[in-house]
Amino acid sequence: MNIASETDKAIREIVIVGGGTAGWMTAAALSRMLPQGKRLRLVESDQISTIGVGEATIPSIRAFNQLLNLDEDEFIRETQATFKLGIEFVNWGNQGDSYIHGFGQIGRDQVVAKFYQYWLKMYQAGKAPDLEAFSINTVAPRHAKFMRPPKDMPNSPLSDISYAFHFDAGLYARYLRGIAERQGVLRTEGRIVEVGTHPENGHIASLRMENGEQIEGDLFIDCSGLSALLIEKTLHTGFEDWSHWLPADSAIAVPCVPAGALLPYTRSSAHQAGWQWRIPLQHRTGNGHVFCSKFMSADEAQAILLNNLDGEALAEPRLIRFTTGKRKRAWNKNCVAIGLAGGFMEPLESTSIHMIQTAIMRLLSLFPDRAFSQVDIDTYNAQNDEEYQRIRDFLIMHYKLNQHQDADFWRYCREMEVPAEVQHRIDLYRSHGRIFRLGEELFADASWLQVMHGQGLRAQSYHPLVDQRSEEDIDYFLTQVQKTIQKCVDVMPTHAEFIAATCAAE
Ligand code: FAD
Repeated sequence: MNIASETDKAIREIVIVGGGTAGWMTAAALSRMLPQGKRLRLVESDQISTIGVGEATIPSIRAFNQLLNLDEDEFIRETQATFKLGIEFVNWGNQGDSYIHGFGQIGRDQVVAKFYQYWLKMYQAGKAPDLEAFSINTVAPRHAKFMRPPKDMPNSPLSDISYAFHFDAGLYARYLRGIAERQGVLRTEGRIVEVGTHPENGHIASLRMENGEQIEGDLFIDCSGLSALLIEKTLHTGFEDWSHWLPADSAIAVPCVPAGALLPYTRSSAHQAGWQWRIPLQHRTGNGHVFCSKFMSADEAQAILLNNLDGEALAEPRLIRFTTGKRKRAWNKNCVAIGLAGGFMEPLESTSIHMIQTAIMRLLSLFPDRAFSQVDIDTYNAQNDEEYQRIRDFLIMHYKLNQHQDADFWRYCREMEVPAEVQHRIDLYRSHGRIFRLGEELFADASWLQVMHGQGLRAQSYHPLVDQRSEEDIDYFLTQVQKTIQKCVDVMPTHAEFIAATCAAE
């Protein structure tokens, strides 16, 4: 029997299509992690612009940057980045409401019950302030303060600080391109005009460029953005449309001159048929209005956006159309779709760049040979679907739990039937404030809690086991947590001071 050796079957040519955030993140990571002997090529077209948004992240981005061995201060300078401790949701539950979904933990969990169960008991009795008082990631933003967690204070709330970044997406891609090219990635500029497939198995065989050049490969990674050139236009993989749950389908984006204090958080403000993001960078503020075209015209959406900028617009507003959902299979034959080519959900919780990162790690953990084992591909797709669904449910929760009475869009969202798991989470929280993290889902209890409570959902009771402690004891415990956090925040520098002292761009 002639069994081909592993080396014979090894993938040798990897072609990445697209040079946006997804393409260059993939190129930088694969060129660092894969063994020698593989040729990595990235194809991008200067005529087809990148999406140009995607500037807010979650803390996992730091693990990705560490994988690439980036110096954090250099990365911040190169990308005009700022720090992000969470997201403020303004007017989301109801007009006039504001809450912060902060990263990291809330209070200190106890052996018997989670911290928030003790808080719930006292809050329900009118004897505790709102949730925001119990996390350094929600108190510090309200004072525009930031510092990195010190390494030598393990018991201080300062060590609980959990942070991500806002950065200029174009500069990030350029920065990663430099790294990837130094690690040997070959860049080809030009427009792909045709994609060839193998007649016997339908796998992608080659790309034909506008200038006639033919690019062949063993493994193709589709980072072509919303056009999904390989995974959809060539392989016709199919798309699972989730717009009945996440109905926003458009965004208008415009940067503006920064004004006011440099805030260490993203702001999301609800409008009549969607919401507006505000992302503070060092050199400008990124803004965008995400809306549903069934309920608002692009002209109206643009007028609202321009009326709600901090400073003068720095460019013409740009309209982006999208459909929320995901590819039926992110990995099909010898093609893996990463980034917008694989799917898109709302930018509401800044999860897309994170999902690029997890897709890269998943690809590395199931890295194929030229046999393309179907069980590996199925495993990749099952993990991808699970991740998408859990994040989708978290996003749906924001919309479902609104109390706006005067807008058709919000009424639709409140009355829509949601996936059974979302309804179950609502019912479970409403009864005794219980929250369970499902499997390896991204968002922890603290995130679900902040959003459900922040949107106005109220638990009717609390976990009975917290009654083991007296009210006086719980009151003392909560007061100490609150005071310690406040003391820490008092000594923290402002976000602007911290950046000026450590990592300001020239
Ligand atoms: P793109 O940036 O669109 O890149 C596509 C690439 O493919 C380009 O280089 C293009 O030249 C190339 N290409 C396409 N066709 C061809 C062809 N025929 N020949 C050659 N090259 C081709 N994510 C977050 O994490 N946080 C956020 O705050 C956030 N905000 C968002 C707001 C909005 C409104 C939208 C729509 C998305 C947002 N995202 C956010 C998602 C984020 O922008 C994307 O996940 C990220 O930018 C990755 O995009 P991409 O690289 O997949 O696609």
